[in-house]
Amino acid sequence: MTQKLVPLIPEDAPFAPAQRAWLNGFLAGLYSYGPAPAVEPLRVAVLYGSQTGTAEGLARKLAKHLKAAGYEAVLTSLEGYVPATLAAEKNALFVVSTYGEGDAPDAAQAFFQQLCVEHFPLLGNLSYAVFGLGDSHYEHFCQFGKDLDAKLHGLGGTRLLERVDCDVETDAPFAAWKNSVEERLRGLASANSPAQESTGAVLEMPVAAPESAAPMTAAPSRDRPYAAPVVEKRALTAAASSKRTIHLSFAIDGAPMQYEAGDACGVAPRNSPELVDSILGLLPFTGSEIIEVPKAGALPLREALLEKFAITRLTRNMVTQYASIASCGWLAEMMAPEQQAELERYVHGRDLFDLLKECPGAIQTTEQLVGLLPRLTPRLYSISSSPLAHPGQVHTTVSVVRFQTHGRERGGVCSTLLDDRVAVGDRLPLYIHPNKKFRLPEDSSSPMIMIGPGTGIAPFRGFLHQRRVTGATGRNWLFFGERCAATDFLYREELESMKADGHLTRLDTAFSRDRAQKVYVQDLMLKEARQVWEWLEQGAYVYVCGDAFRMAKDVDKTLHSIVATQGGMSEEDAGAYVNALKEERRYQRDVY
Ligand code: NDP
Repeated sequence: MTQKLVPLIPEDAPFAPAQRAWLNGFLAGLYSYGPAPAVEPLRVAVLYGSQTGTAEGLARKLAKHLKAAGYEAVLTSLEGYVPATLAAEKNALFVVSTYGEGDAPDAAQAFFQQLCVEHFPLLGNLSYAVFGLGDSHYEHFCQFGKDLDAKLHGLGGTRLLERVDCDVETDAPFAAWKNSVEERLRGLASANSPAQESTGAVLEMPVAAPESAAPMTAAPSRDRPYAAPVVEKRALTAAASSKRTIHLSFAIDGAPMQYEAGDACGVAPRNSPELVDSILGLLPFTGSEIIEVPKAGALPLREALLEKFAITRLTRNMVTQYASIASCGWLAEMMAPEQQAELERYVHGRDLFDLLKECPGAIQTTEQLVGLLPRLTPRLYSISSSPLAHPGQVHTTVSVVRFQTHGRERGGVCSTLLDDRVAVGDRLPLYIHPNKKFRLPEDSSSPMIMIGPGTGIAPFRGFLHQRRVTGATGRNWLFFGERCAATDFLYREELESMKADGHLTRLDTAFSRDRAQKVYVQDLMLKEARQVWEWLEQGAYVYVCGDAFRMAKDVDKTLHSIVATQGGMSEEDAGAYVNALKEERRYQRDVY
């Protein structure tokens, strides 16, 4: 079979390199047997922060030049530019000057402040280059360009080129930079062309799948979770707080895992090694005995106690079973039908260690031990990230449960594991738990009222980031509550920044322990009853997340009462109105 020869545009032909590349592609298509593959022009954001107009002028020239070369160059001032948009860009070129004492130009200050808000969504897909303008006579020469470059890099962006710090004479350095930028973009454009798509991403993701991770083909599940590396861990509450809430990020780009804002993630925990060893110390076992664990197979006893069995709580069933093999008079008495209330009191706040200590010597075989124990189940946490704003990551917001009962310090199995024994780089078994009944409005222009005190904030952080990245126009109103503003205002910088730039239309906070008289989220709702009603009548969706036992019930009562008073309805009609909201999926709850 003869092969067709495809002509090439000569190097010295009067075309810009990108034009030449395009024409060569066109000819290749023309001379090939099949239809030419469509080549989308590469989108490049050209962003400028200008004080006197120099940066703007250069940015305009750059954008014009790139457009002429076949790129989709989008020129935008940093004034009013929402940095979250960057997460959706792949290529961005910054031309920025420095002002005052090494500051950003006025027009770029709000942008940079927002970019510096801690834990702004990672810019893992972004390739960027910074052309800084300044005057070397000044101490803080090109400081803003340097700061911007460092921040973008810190957020995971990939440098297309090293930053240029340009002195007052701009012509030659700018021309050289423009050429280098174009050369790099050309490389990206050809790598992204359909013929080469199968070669995969050209740019490195900031959080690479760890090398030791075995590639997974099926989506991880409760039975087969993914060992996800922790890529970030930080306290959301201050050291002086009376409670502790932490933020954790897991990298999931090493597994076929997908989620939607509003979903939860399951974490398979491990018991505390100290507690397991204390329990083994009360038993006639070394821990190395091999036992059979359903679904897991043969395991050494210590490992099984660490990973497979629940040992931090007693149930009535466990105590009853234990009593049947023990010889403790007081325990036998508690088994009498009229002693059930006493049995209930006994199990409350005690665990396996307490039982073994208070009534020793009953267990002689490993079968007797594991026959008592329920399985250790995964813990579910609402996801506090957005898959679009935080690509490749799952964030969670965890309140660390610690308490003291019967003379011992105790804690939640998973939250203390995450707080005490997990560090960045460690891996934890993770899977996605879909929460289909907790979803953003389909119509992105619908207003939302979110009520999320404490860790209830988690899905709303995800919702807000998701709505920002997708450019949803609906108004957002958040009611948040915690103990003290100074120590417990979770995600404060992010929320205040969203409030400042208008993404959060309203942010109402209830800090219950800042004043003698407690104030809760539902008190603020009541105070704003008229507004809440107006939003409802304008089609608002109402979301509640957090404590099920008290908060969600009180918020529900308050919602009914607002509908009744503001809508001039009877209690019964208000109930019907709220039910209709539920049916229309405009009242959604994720409470625990
Ligand atoms: P909380 O819900 O305990 O507290 C958040 C805020 O809500 C505080 O200001 C609290 O005030 C306030 N509050 C208390 N009662 C009410 C009420 N009736 N109505 C409205 N607000 C109220 O925050 P957490 O996120 O720490 O805990 C949430 C829930 O999750 C709790 O039930 C907790 O036990 C449960 N939980 C969390 C786990 C975890 O994340 N690791 C694990 C298991 C359970 P104040 O305290 O001053 O009264």
